[in-house]
Amino acid sequence: EAVVHWFKRDLRTFDNRALSMASAKAKSKGVPLICMFIVSPQDYQAHLTSAPRVDFELRTLEVMKEDLAEKDIPLYVTTIEERKNVIPHIMQKCEEWNAKHIYCNIEYEVDELRRESKLVKKCLDQGISFTAVHDDVVVPPETLVTGAGKQYSVYSPWFRAWIKHIHEHPHLLDAFPPPTPNPPTARQLFEPIFASPLPTTPPNKSLTIEERNRFASLWPAGEHEAHSRLTRFLHEKVGKYKETRNFPAHNSTGLLSVHFSSGTLAARTAIRSARDINSTKKLDGGNLGITGWISELAWRDFYKHVLAHWPYVCMHKPFKYEYTDIEWEYDDAKFEAWCEGRTGYPIVDAAMRQLNYMGYMHNRCRMIVASFLAKDLLTDWRRGERYFMEHLIDGDFASNNGGWGFSASTGVDPQPYFRIFNPLLQSEKFDEGGEYIRKWIPELAGVVGTAIHDPYGRGAGKVAEKAGYPRPIVDHKMARERALARYKEGLGRS
Ligand code: FAD
Repeated sequence: EAVVHWFKRDLRTFDNRALSMASAKAKSKGVPLICMFIVSPQDYQAHLTSAPRVDFELRTLEVMKEDLAEKDIPLYVTTIEERKNVIPHIMQKCEEWNAKHIYCNIEYEVDELRRESKLVKKCLDQGISFTAVHDDVVVPPETLVTGAGKQYSVYSPWFRAWIKHIHEHPHLLDAFPPPTPNPPTARQLFEPIFASPLPTTPPNKSLTIEERNRFASLWPAGEHEAHSRLTRFLHEKVGKYKETRNFPAHNSTGLLSVHFSSGTLAARTAIRSARDINSTKKLDGGNLGITGWISELAWRDFYKHVLAHWPYVCMHKPFKYEYTDIEWEYDDAKFEAWCEGRTGYPIVDAAMRQLNYMGYMHNRCRMIVASFLAKDLLTDWRRGERYFMEHLIDGDFASNNGGWGFSASTGVDPQPYFRIFNPLLQSEKFDEGGEYIRKWIPELAGVVGTAIHDPYGRGAGKVAEKAGYPRPIVDHKMARERALARYKEGLGRS
């Protein structure tokens, strides 16, 4: 007999609820624990998982395979081309290993829930117990309700309820212990799994050698790296987070999003660690940097609660249905200019180039480029949402969808539609000296002073033109009026 833990987006051994439970079950029965992970190229395609993200997962699995092997726990990883074959393959393996229990952590997206419900049925048919638990969020979805018993759709009251709930149930932040070692006999029993190499990258997600090296050095993988990044951030930066977090040139945020979204670090671990260094030993009060960081991490829970309660957001529908009928522009050339960082708006272009190079973009810049695409270019925000997922190493459906809905004014608790970011003012405010722009747009390195924010409008046109930097592809004043009119018309129609 054996117990199986199915890894998905929880690629860690420490503070992993389902893994810890699976290990306890195996120990109580005196049977081995087997871990598995399925590489599913069709799932990657369907969910727009970026190539850097797939690469990060495979690099993480290498670290995990070694860590688990030290405890004689085999990690079985295989590629299943078609997603419809994933569940049958898991069942086949369970039969082969005589596994009577499967554990996993719940993912809240519709496709994943459907897949899990198929697994429940198969397990019932085969007499296997199946346990799926909440782990990805600190407070499970549907726990927090308004006075009227409804799901919150506004962040601030939700956040107050979230803090209160955790303070009343402090065990929600307790760590789950890592798995205990298998009986040594597991080595011989599962030797082929220990000996087999990890699958290669699926062809639909391959990277060039240069890209592989770049992403590996920018984003070292695995949970040990996640923990040392967390420790460094909490020691060196979190104290000033509140004042510095909005400035993309400052490198003052945690840069842990790839770890939260792949599960190499649990949000629970990070929030607990931040709480423990706060003078109040609570999630509120005390150091503003610490509490500010916790409140940002809470957005992650918030968007997952929204997704779990209103699953239609997974189906290309705006959260606010009255925004369904906005008439968008379909200008491919302008969309491509946005994707490639050639809009003629330096802050937008710097941000898009950061994304294309690093698989990451600073949060302030994500808001600026999202607002620019949806409002200045009046492009359907879903095109941008898609482009982000295809390029971000930290792509996470709920946070990405939430962020796009916020910026395009179509989402849960969004910016009102008439609040339209002025890219020039955003640039002056958040990249005053232009360091971020100069870093990502080498063509503008020679532009001095405030012309960096708007070279053609502020007397640096010749330098910019000579360096091949484009003129603005849209006039912000005109675009603002157009967006206001179109949003109003769209709202009128529904
Ligand atoms: P820090 O400032 O150190 O914050 C700590 C953690 O809190 C982050 O790692 C993240 O897990 C969470 N967090 C912070 N801000 C938010 C937020 N606004 N919404 C949800 N969680 C947040 N984040 C993703 O993880 N994946 C995405 O696909 C994603 N897409 C986004 C798209 C748009 C249009 C916008 C506006 C935001 C998006 N975000 C996304 C949120 C945010 O930009 C990133 O989480 C953040 O920039 C990551 O950098 P960091 O780890 O240094 O963050």
